[in-house]
Amino acid sequence: MSLRSADLVDASNAQAVNNFREYLQIRSVHPEINYDGCVKFLEKQAKSLDLPIKIVTVVPGKPIVIMTWTGKNPNLPSIMLNSHMDVVPVYEDMWSQKPFGGEIVDGKVYGRGAQDMKCVGIWYLEAIRMLKSNKVTLECTLHVTFVPDEEIGGKDGMKVFVETEEFKKLNIGCALDEGMPSTNEEFALFYDERCMWHMNWTCPGISTHGSALVNDTAGEKVAYILGKIYEFRRNEQNKLKYLKGTMGDVTAINLNVIHGGVQTNVTPAEIKFGLDCRVTPKEDFKTFEKMIESWRSEAGSGVTIDFVEKWLPVPATKLNDENPYWMAFKKATEALNLKLVPQICPGRTDGVFLRAKGIPVLGFSAINNTELLLHQHDEHLGVETFLKGIQIYCKIIEAMANV
Ligand SMILES: [Zn+2]
Repeated sequence: MSLRSADLVDASNAQAVNNFREYLQIRSVHPEINYDGCVKFLEKQAKSLDLPIKIVTVVPGKPIVIMTWTGKNPNLPSIMLNSHMDVVPVYEDMWSQKPFGGEIVDGKVYGRGAQDMKCVGIWYLEAIRMLKSNKVTLECTLHVTFVPDEEIGGKDGMKVFVETEEFKKLNIGCALDEGMPSTNEEFALFYDERCMWHMNWTCPGISTHGSALVNDTAGEKVAYILGKIYEFRRNEQNKLKYLKGTMGDVTAINLNVIHGGVQTNVTPAEIKFGLDCRVTPKEDFKTFEKMIESWRSEAGSGVTIDFVEKWLPVPATKLNDENPYWMAFKKATEALNLKLVPQICPGRTDGVFLRAKGIPVLGFSAINNTELLLHQHDEHLGVETFLKGIQIYCKIIEAMANV
């Protein structure tokens, strides 16, 4: 019996969807992930693609998986196709489908990681499968990397990996990493990201009877600082509203943790609070730091700030003809009639560690016309969007690898 070409297309689509579903069924969920399931799954994928696979261990229990498709000219800088294997926890009872079932309901594949970002990892592999089956050969080498722990900051993942000899040997010229779904026709493209500042503030105060009207209370200091924070926040919200930019063009600041006090009739000796601040690289960092320091010193005596994270900007990826990989990416997406919206990523991704090493990174997930469900209940991806994604990555990868 011979298969018609339509059957072949259907068969390869079914295999791709099944691989996606199988990957979603692996519980690589925080906290305390055992990555063995992912490694086993990827070893099986590498075998089916006839690609060599290497597991690099920098931190025990946190494997970095690298599949390599050697190009015709392996001396050229390579392309890294990066994705993270880990996913964030779920509130299982809030899901309408099993979060690790990989089930298809109404044409959508459900599962934690369906958008962030197991879909992208599978897209790289399925695009390679398609290119290989079409007998396409590439000029430069591809390294498909699957890294751990991105969702908890990448400290034991990409951050340490970029410092190794193994990483240097990959000789990466450009990397693809995650983007963000878009709810309309357009596609988001990240060329830079906001800098994470996590601060723990401590406001000491006079501890006395709760009925007293003394000065120098912790509450007054907190009130002063919060007044400044919310004024700054309103300004940033207005900027976003009137400047018609994207989230990455402004700075976000949020009060997310607060502790203090022992009992209602005792003024607290101390109130502590934690801020998550995402500073746009468009900010003047010296001025911004001075502003934070002025809030601290004006709030009252003894106020301290402990910076848990204080990132400074790294070189943004150039989106001009100085970056041939971008030009190839752009041309490929134009040929597919995709409308890209280049922007600064509002969050943090592993791309930052690569950009810090001077490697251009394009943050892209081939998801448009889709509800944004990153880290949310009922995360899912339409089967049609998934299948279209394979075609998109085929074109992009082929163009970038023939720069
Ligand atoms: Zn992600």
